Amino acid sequence: MSQEIGFIGLGMMGAPMVRRLLGAGHTVTVCDLDAAAVGTATAAGARTASTPSELAAQCDVVMVSLPTPNVVRQVALGPDGLHAGGRAKVYVDLSTTGARVAREVAAGLAPHGIAALDAPVSGGPPGAAAGTLSIMVSGDPATFETVRPVLAAMGSNTRLVGTEVGQGQMLKLVNNLMLAANYAVASECLVMGAKAGLDPSVMVDVVNKSSGRSFASENFVPRPVLQREFNFGFRMELMCKDVRLALEEAEALGTPMFACAAARHLYNCAIGHGQPDDDVTSLIKLLEHWGGAVVAAKPQSA
Ligand code: NAD
Repeated sequence: MSQEIGFIGLGMMGAPMVRRLLGAGHTVTVCDLDAAAVGTATAAGARTASTPSELAAQCDVVMVSLPTPNVVRQVALGPDGLHAGGRAKVYVDLSTTGARVAREVAAGLAPHGIAALDAPVSGGPPGAAAGTLSIMVSGDPATFETVRPVLAAMGSNTRLVGTEVGQGQMLKLVNNLMLAANYAVASECLVMGAKAGLDPSVMVDVVNKSSGRSFASENFVPRPVLQREFNFGFRMELMCKDVRLALEEAEALGTPMFACAAARHLYNCAIGHGQPDDDVTSLIKLLEHWGGAVVAAKPQSA
């Protein structure tokens, strides 16, 4: 029998993931504070629930893609939270919210007969739209097997990375700390090259075929930065949240984080100088301002 899927959080990641689930033929019930996002999902064929508990009363599996640890905690365990639904048996957290809240939510849902998997994703809105996300799952292997076919609609690299809740979140924090630091380094170096008089488009094209390339240089720079669109689809404040969570884990573990701590200062400065909803790719504007050069494609001559 096919499982009824619930999905909470229809943002840059959740909305395309729901489209993938509907496209794969799943029945999906959605919930979000943003009425416009709910309207778009219902127009595509989703059903709606007005609260997390109402949604968990209608669905077998509940997925969430939410911005912060506090919102995840509230949606799962707060008043009208998923715990009060009665029907849901599996909870899958696709957000990046850290290992601690994953463990806390799993412990809070277990007495209600709900098994928790943390399953943070990587690949951004383009990966969500294409169904090519990396999904880093941890938790009970048998529970994972029950949702593997559902996750297949959203990811092409889905792995059980650990059997303890929180290990998927830890792996995701490692990944995003590397991404954040890689982009900070790429931004500094590309501003240096631009100031030296290199053609930014040529420089980026060559680096992206050479050993300096990274996901950031390949996906954040060519269109969002060179074309001055700054629209990858990942908000700066969410990246700051990931860097903060990762460095808190490093602090607790006692591992050195010299380069990543420097990157954190840059992201905090960018938040201080920009708007809360700025795209993560805007970080380079701060370095362009300080460095006195812009990494922009030259206008095409007619
Ligand atoms: P977003 O801010 O675009 O979307 C969050 C959604 O959650 C919004 O639609 C918002 O209305 C909804 N929401 C907030 N509070 C709610 C509540 N109490 N009840 C119901 N809905 C609520 O964020 P996003 O970019 O889609 O990211 C979601 C998660 O995925 C974050 O944890 C982020 O770190 C992670 N992530 C993002 C990306 C990316 O590139 N955008 C990539 C991988 C992982």
